[in-house]
Amino acid sequence: MGARLIDGARIAQQLQAQLREQLATRLTPAGIVPGLTVLLVGENPASRIYVRRKIKACGEVGIRSNLIELPDTVAEARLLDEIERLNTDAAVDGILVQLPLPKHISVAKVQHAIRPEKDVDAFHPRNVGALVTGEPALEPCTPLGCLRLLEQESVAIQGRHAVIVGRSNIVGKPMALLLLQRSATVTICHSKTPDLGAITRQGDILVAAVGVPRLIKGSMVKPGAAVLDVGINRLPDGTLCGDVDFAEAREVAGLITPVPGGVGPMTIAMLLHNTVLAALRAHGAAR
Ligand code: NAD
Repeated sequence: MGARLIDGARIAQQLQAQLREQLATRLTPAGIVPGLTVLLVGENPASRIYVRRKIKACGEVGIRSNLIELPDTVAEARLLDEIERLNTDAAVDGILVQLPLPKHISVAKVQHAIRPEKDVDAFHPRNVGALVTGEPALEPCTPLGCLRLLEQESVAIQGRHAVIVGRSNIVGKPMALLLLQRSATVTICHSKTPDLGAITRQGDILVAAVGVPRLIKGSMVKPGAAVLDVGINRLPDGTLCGDVDFAEAREVAGLITPVPGGVGPMTIAMLLHNTVLAALRAHGAAR
């Protein structure tokens, strides 16, 4: 029998419905209208699709959104000025700069420029530091979405071995920290890890965040494991696939996310969650 599918699209819709309800019953009556501003630099087609989805999702839950588009040639200083303007705009609770950025712009400088309280992607070093020390802060959307999937599916985390493939600042490292906070035993694998399968086969929870189509074969999955596939890879025929060989892995795993419709929608739901949280904190109304 195949693994049970984790329907990220459905779970994300449920979370968005809860946010919509929270806005309607708690925030709107208190005069709080969360606002997200997205900065999009250049013409990257994938970025345009992601940004459009984020803006649409904001509208669906009642978050006010604003898209600022800047040309590929925009000077770094101009982008930093724009961020500073948004930092001091009380109507803006969340600021998101869509990645990737053109090569002449320093991603680190941009991430450092966003005020940590408005950093809904949670890439600012202060938010990263808070994640390391376990202090309350905004947490990065994709790993947080993965965690929510595990919670929704009642996957036990404490004391289990979580294996993460990929060590990026955006997914792999924060994923490891979030799972460690919940008392998993965590192993991080990366491009220099020899005999990857020997390690991934130990994972009760296996998170693939690599960017290599179908790298994780069925033989690399522990029977019964919960497999979260973060990868979004476009194949030459135009279709999307994950970092996990879904057809093979679903025969071995206990639970598995599809691509698309797994982790991706959760990233957007968590962006909305972070924007609402930032607005609540800005108004001193966070729980
Ligand atoms: P990245 O390129 O920054 O990092 C990839 C990581 O994979 C690196 O740490 C590298 O060491 C490791 N790696 C590369 N080849 C490997 C190999 N053969 N064996 C083991 N490890 C290897 O990528 P990223 O930003 O973390 O994104 C990873 C994937 O997740 C991409 O497909 C990206 O599109 C996708 N992604 C999806 C979402 C979402 O919302 N679903 C969000 C962010 C990223």
